[in-house]
Amino acid sequence: MSRKLSIGTKCVHEGYKPGNGEPRQMPIVQSTTFKYDDSDAMGRLFDLEDAGYFYTRLQNPTNDMVAARLCALEGGVAGMLTSSGQAANFFACFNICTAGDHMISTAGIYGGTFNLFNATFRKMGIDVTFVDQNCSEEELNALFKPNTKLVFGETLSNPAVRVLDIEKFARVAHAHGVPLIVDNTFPTPVKCRPFEFGADIVTHSTTKYIDGHGTSVGGAIIDSGNFDWQAHADKFPGLCEPDPTYHGLVYTEKFGKAAYITKATSQLMRDYGAIQSPQNAFYLNLGLQTLHLRMDRVSASGLKVAQFLKSHPMVDWILYPGLEDDSDYALAQKYLPDGCCGVMAFGLKGGRENFIRFMDSLKLVTIETHVADCYSCILHPASHTHRQLTDEQLRDAGIDPSLMRLSIGLEDSQDLIADISEALDCAFSC
Ligand SMILES: *Cc1c(COP(=O)(O)O)cnc(C)c1O
Repeated sequence: MSRKLSIGTKCVHEGYKPGNGEPRQMPIVQSTTFKYDDSDAMGRLFDLEDAGYFYTRLQNPTNDMVAARLCALEGGVAGMLTSSGQAANFFACFNICTAGDHMISTAGIYGGTFNLFNATFRKMGIDVTFVDQNCSEEELNALFKPNTKLVFGETLSNPAVRVLDIEKFARVAHAHGVPLIVDNTFPTPVKCRPFEFGADIVTHSTTKYIDGHGTSVGGAIIDSGNFDWQAHADKFPGLCEPDPTYHGLVYTEKFGKAAYITKATSQLMRDYGAIQSPQNAFYLNLGLQTLHLRMDRVSASGLKVAQFLKSHPMVDWILYPGLEDDSDYALAQKYLPDGCCGVMAFGLKGGRENFIRFMDSLKLVTIETHVADCYSCILHPASHTHRQLTDEQLRDAGIDPSLMRLSIGLEDSQDLIADISEALDCAFSC
């Protein structure tokens, strides 16, 4: 076919093309190990001389097919699955940034990633500087140090759904000879492909929309292949100098554009073992096959619910970049022109007792520590995930004590609006 395939077709077909008489659906290779005819064949695999499978902690055919599908959707050259989104962000950074190094991250990121960077990375000797993503290029420039190895941000931040100006961050990162890593969990490649705007590496918590049915915790890392490690070899010795654990092989020489992912698989996965189970990868594949349909639906419903909340007299404020008067609307038009997913953050008038009565009165929307799947759900960090913090500590952590995160699922939007409307009535009059 001469036509360039659209993203929806890729969701259905990429990564697995069965041959004659082979299973139509991608099979699960539920096997820890793989058999070889002679000792030499096995030895060459361990030397990374031949490509192939030897142990599922490093690679598994089902995982690789699913990673290839996601890689094709993002427009990358190589990808890998991890056991969780946390493992994906850990590997993505730690692959090129270790003890004695420094990295820059936007401040308003997912709480789990913030803890990883702010607590665990510091313990490991990695220095992290957090920056407001609305900073100017000059402000961002001023944060770089000689040992800075990467810049990190989220396309759509969790929970405040702020839009990252990917081009701005990529431009400044590249001027300093380091890559931009973008967590693309909320938009998924259906709504935004950060590589098209200069990001170098993309990560995912596939636990969210990609699985989309609340079944499987998982993550992924995809490399665009665009960052020239060799041009900055002094900054990235792990990629550009011999690896003694593989007889002195040099990843950039041996694997070219696949150097970064090959190193993450053959060193980090080997040593940390955060592999995704092939069964979970199979579920992810089912999610990917309908991702385009679901992302269109949650984005359309999300906008309708956001418009309803915006116009409601008891809603104090709302953040949803698809709303025309949202401060990030212009950025959303550029980076997410086909929709902004189903997540929004808002605050009600009144006090905590009203927020709680509102959440407890919802019938379709459920209270969950989750976001971005087929069930609409709500979370109030001050009462749930961050309940040990005082209002002042919450504000210091960048969380408004009234913030509720609402995630719109696949239910009918009119049913959801009716549910939310009745619960709001109840919150202020029951
Ligand atoms: C949930 C989430 C993560 C962490 O993913 P897990 O799969 O829960 O480990 C990372 N980034 C973002 C943006 C998330 O929403």
